[in-house]
Amino acid sequence: MAINELHNDLRTAVRELCARFPDSYWRELDAREAYPEEFVKTLTNAGYLAALIPEELGGSGLGVAEASIVLEEVNRSGGNSAACHAQMYTMGTLLRHGSEEQRRHYLPKIASGDLRLQAFGVTEPTTGTDTTQMKTMAVRRGNHYVVNGQKVWISRVEHSDLMLLVVRTTPVEEVQKKTEGLSILLVDLRDAIGNGMTVNPIRAMINHATTEVFFDNLEVPVENRVGEEGKGFRYLLDGLNAERILIAAECVGDGRWFIERACRYAKDRVVFGRPIGQNQGIQFPIARAHVNVEAADLMRVRAADLFDDGQPCGAEANMAKLLAADASWEAANVTMQTYGGFGFAEEFDVERKFRETRLYQTAPISTNLILAFIGQHVLGLPRSF
Ligand SMILES: Cc1cc2nc3c(=O)[nH]c(=O)nc-3n(C[C@H](O)[C@H](O)[C@H](O)COP(=O)(O)OP(=O)(O)OC[C@H]3O[C@@H](n4cnc5c(N)ncnc54)[C@H](O)[C@@H]3O)c2cc1C
Repeated sequence: MAINELHNDLRTAVRELCARFPDSYWRELDAREAYPEEFVKTLTNAGYLAALIPEELGGSGLGVAEASIVLEEVNRSGGNSAACHAQMYTMGTLLRHGSEEQRRHYLPKIASGDLRLQAFGVTEPTTGTDTTQMKTMAVRRGNHYVVNGQKVWISRVEHSDLMLLVVRTTPVEEVQKKTEGLSILLVDLRDAIGNGMTVNPIRAMINHATTEVFFDNLEVPVENRVGEEGKGFRYLLDGLNAERILIAAECVGDGRWFIERACRYAKDRVVFGRPIGQNQGIQFPIARAHVNVEAADLMRVRAADLFDDGQPCGAEANMAKLLAADASWEAANVTMQTYGGFGFAEEFDVERKFRETRLYQTAPISTNLILAFIGQHVLGLPRSF
């Protein structure tokens, strides 16, 4: 099948699935701060969250281009991929760096949805973006690591069976380079919670199932370490390009949802005897937001093509994430303005999507940190940290 045909068929199929989960579904969950369990199960059963798992391990063996279409369409439908996007890409660390035994044991079950691996524990309250300074320590005792420390903003822990946890196995003072001495552990949450691990939900601006997590002598079997001890930072970086491209696609989906809603409302709403969209003060900002969403999409497609071709794409993946997050945020603001007071009413969903798309200025990586990457690593400017 030609690539365009495959992409169009995929779009149509995901769109049809999403149509079974209308705005009211997401709105009601948002009000209750509840997890979209039925949606995630439906998406999993249809195989979409296993897009990036190779066929021989039970997935569909598709590329990031296709995976990104799935998430884009979810957001474009008015839903929120953040509930489950990590099931798609967190397993990449296991796929690329796990042992053959780990891959064969976990990946088919992740592909079928029997196991959920959609929690990734990196951020800590005292060190934030400065990942190498993290304080959570895992000390080896025989066949186990004993983990002590704290993480914050760890999402979907309560809706996962497994979590990838980034810890220090060597204190930062004892390594030559600060990026050394970090390791990745696969934590079985079914055993861990209540046995050395405590999870406290964080009430947040968006419905994101996010939590703070405490480790008090949590024991993790050494066989659950992914890859070599001390090399965790490199494994972390390895997964970032795919994540950036997928998030960019979600933002493009958000952007397109906003533009569609803004256009519809601007045509229907009549004030001073004419549709508000006839006023250039309303029309031009929507047109500009559309231009920026479509331009961001081109960078997302370019980054995905390079990624799937096995070529370096760090610059493109980061630029796609930045451009798409900015474009979706611009589209969100323009749509709020177009809706006037009604933009604030929950029943139109604009305020919910507005809150949701705002996240991508900050997480999983903030705009400033992307600019620092471009400045330092693409343009060769002096490092600021
Ligand atoms: C809803 C939500 C869900 C999340 N889910 C997860 C998750 O599942 N797993 C996980 O590990 N983390 C998660 N995070 C954490 C997220 O990745 C971090 O919030 C984000 O990386 C920023 O870190 P911080 O909040 O500690 O900000 P800080 O590092 O404290 O930074 C604060 C601000 O200062 C800026 N800044 C800091 N240093 C510099 C510098 N040198 N130059 C310029 N600007 C700088 C940053 O860009 C940012 O704007 C989530 C966050 C949220 C809000």
